[in-house]
Amino acid sequence: MDISTKLLGTSEEELRYAAGLLARGEIVGMPTETVYGLAADAENPRAVEKIFAAKGRPQDNPLIVHIADIERLEEYAHSIPVIAYRLAEKFWPGPLTMVLPKKEIIPDVTSAGLNTVGIRMPCHEAARSLIRLSGKALAAPSANISGSPSPTEAAHVMADMRGRIPAVVDGGSCPVGVESTVISFEGDAVRILRPGFVSAEELSEWAEVICDRHITEAAAEGEKVLSPGMKYKHYSPKANVTIVDGSEEQYLEFVSRHGGNGVCAMIFGSEADKCMIPYIAYGDTSEEQAANLFAVLRKLDGIGAEQVYARMPSPQGVGLAVYNRLLRAAGFEVVRL
Ligand code: AMP
Ligand code: MG
Repeated sequence: MDISTKLLGTSEEELRYAAGLLARGEIVGMPTETVYGLAADAENPRAVEKIFAAKGRPQDNPLIVHIADIERLEEYAHSIPVIAYRLAEKFWPGPLTMVLPKKEIIPDVTSAGLNTVGIRMPCHEAARSLIRLSGKALAAPSANISGSPSPTEAAHVMADMRGRIPAVVDGGSCPVGVESTVISFEGDAVRILRPGFVSAEELSEWAEVICDRHITEAAAEGEKVLSPGMKYKHYSPKANVTIVDGSEEQYLEFVSRHGGNGVCAMIFGSEADKCMIPYIAYGDTSEEQAANLFAVLRKLDGIGAEQVYARMPSPQGVGLAVYNRLLRAAGFEVVRL
């Protein structure tokens, strides 16, 4: 049955209202610096089940637990390596999720049956206030219907979740635009399970970094992956997306040859004057591309695009996160010129 979905602002009164819903076992759309999350009390299995139901999320895909104070880390995780504390000191609050052995207090539904839990401390002010006001740690995956592009504006959450959840807190556009970097620990090394705004380059100043091969490679049917989210097709608009890897000249020549009804180019921006077919720009720098990527993928649906040729992003820094999300949106279809 459809419920009415309130759009709330970030005043203390409105955050208190949202926190009250969370404390009562309801789920709420929450802004963070990465993407909008769909939050529930991480310790309450019935509340967390509502997230899976609202999103249509596969039961084996674990949720990230969000805290507002580093002191709470040890309530949820044990056997925390020294390097984890060092990285928390450096990158928290911020878009870094650490996978650690979980304590009993985290129910199986939150960790999708794993004996580990992903924990992060967001730096978005409204998210931190909401966590503190609720008095809970909040389990929160991205607030989209599973498989569709992650929401980076409250309107995206409304488009996917209206009628399914009681409230969304509107904190404006998410500045980072792609989900957090997820890491696990292997001795003194860290393994990047999912790239995000905290880059491999930055992490390597603090520890040896291993990039999981599923960041850029599709998992085979039935293959076990360390980060369950990595095996699903994701972030997909309705259009078929193809990544085109080549120089500006090669790319422009390719799209002008492949233009036609329902075909749209997804360009950086600086080549706009020279693009001969309809296009949407997603940004010249990796940071701009990260911030715009999901909104652009949603816009492509809005204009009824059927085939999208996306210019290959640079995989350096946060660009690796952009490339990783775009690869999944494209079902790993890349044309190399
Ligand atoms: P979302 O919040 O929708 O971005 O999804 C969170 C992602 O974080 C999941 O899809 C997993 O890939 C990853 N993740 C969360 N918890 C764990 C964990 N305990 N072990 C490995 N990966 C995790
Ligand atoms: Mg997600």
